[in-house]
Amino acid sequence: MVYTNGTLLTKRASPIKISPIIFVSLLVTGCGSGSSSISDIDNSSNLIDNSGEDSIDNDAEGNFDSSLFSLDLTEETRVGCTLNDGTVTTCYQITFNANGVGNTEGAGTVGPFCPDRADAPRSQSGFGFYDGATNPGFQLILDAAQNMESDGYNIIDENNNINSDGAAGAACLSMPFADNLALTYLVPVVPQKASEPEDIGEIDSIGFGLHGVPYKGTPPGVVDRDGRIPSLDHCGGHSDPSGYYHWHFIPQSMNLVLGSEEYNFREDDSITCSNSYIVDANSNEPDPSSFAGLAKDGYPIYGALDSSETEETEPVDLDQCNGHEHATDEFPDSVYHYHAFRETAPNNPTCLSGKFVTNDWELSR
Ligand SMILES: [Zn+2]
Ligand SMILES: [Zn+2]
Repeated sequence: MVYTNGTLLTKRASPIKISPIIFVSLLVTGCGSGSSSISDIDNSSNLIDNSGEDSIDNDAEGNFDSSLFSLDLTEETRVGCTLNDGTVTTCYQITFNANGVGNTEGAGTVGPFCPDRADAPRSQSGFGFYDGATNPGFQLILDAAQNMESDGYNIIDENNNINSDGAAGAACLSMPFADNLALTYLVPVVPQKASEPEDIGEIDSIGFGLHGVPYKGTPPGVVDRDGRIPSLDHCGGHSDPSGYYHWHFIPQSMNLVLGSEEYNFREDDSITCSNSYIVDANSNEPDPSSFAGLAKDGYPIYGALDSSETEETEPVDLDQCNGHEHATDEFPDSVYHYHAFRETAPNNPTCLSGKFVTNDWELSR
């Protein structure tokens, strides 16, 4: 794999032979106890099937424009692919460095994740989705830990420390980053509407963001996993046990969720999505109307708002997948696209309108 930091490769003019991708073992041991990790991986079948290899369309106009993506795009080409209804078509095959948003924890990059102590400052706590009996929902790990104690999970010890050892019962989970990974996506070049929208299930792949970071459905539950609660940072992302960072939110409009009446996490502005890779240079915040990536069906994803030349506006006439069609800055000829939900957690689309490759992405080294 050739890494070309900061350099975008141009589209190839003719079909090329695809070099084999070495698939990473799924026997991830990142959380100590092995089997029930927070792994979001599903690579039960081969990503690259090269179906229709003889009829790859290198001229069709699609929605992937490498100039809209940043930093760690390492390879882009076109291959034959089969969509989930059996349609054989041409797909982009796009490879990114897995940790394109930065693999160090701290202000401006990723984190915070697990607070050390139950009395830690709230700004030092990541988020979790708690599904137990006491106060379930999207909340700070600090609050989830108290709720878990109420439900009989022993996550806070007698010294007020929050357990983060995944091998030792109830725990806040935060996984280390691996910097030697690459993610490869297959996305249809010409999107095709499906007869019925397809729901996005828990941890299902949705697509990818501007740095190739995967978008995933809701994180797995805590109760079924004996009180092990995965932590998400203030932009709604975290690392998988296999080391790749991914988002369970569309981070461009995460601060609308955090500032909503329901959650009200931004009272003192200490809990805010401020990842330096996605913030606007002027406001130092993500732009909630900005282009946010590509869904696996080939349709673009935007933050929760639309923008005109002068103002940000509420999207209108959204369908059940939070999508609609109009011209945008990136697609001036009009394009069907998804919006993040404005104030719900998670805020990413809950279904997709188009056909997609069933195993649309793969981890490799
Ligand atoms: Zn996850
Ligand atoms: Zn729109």
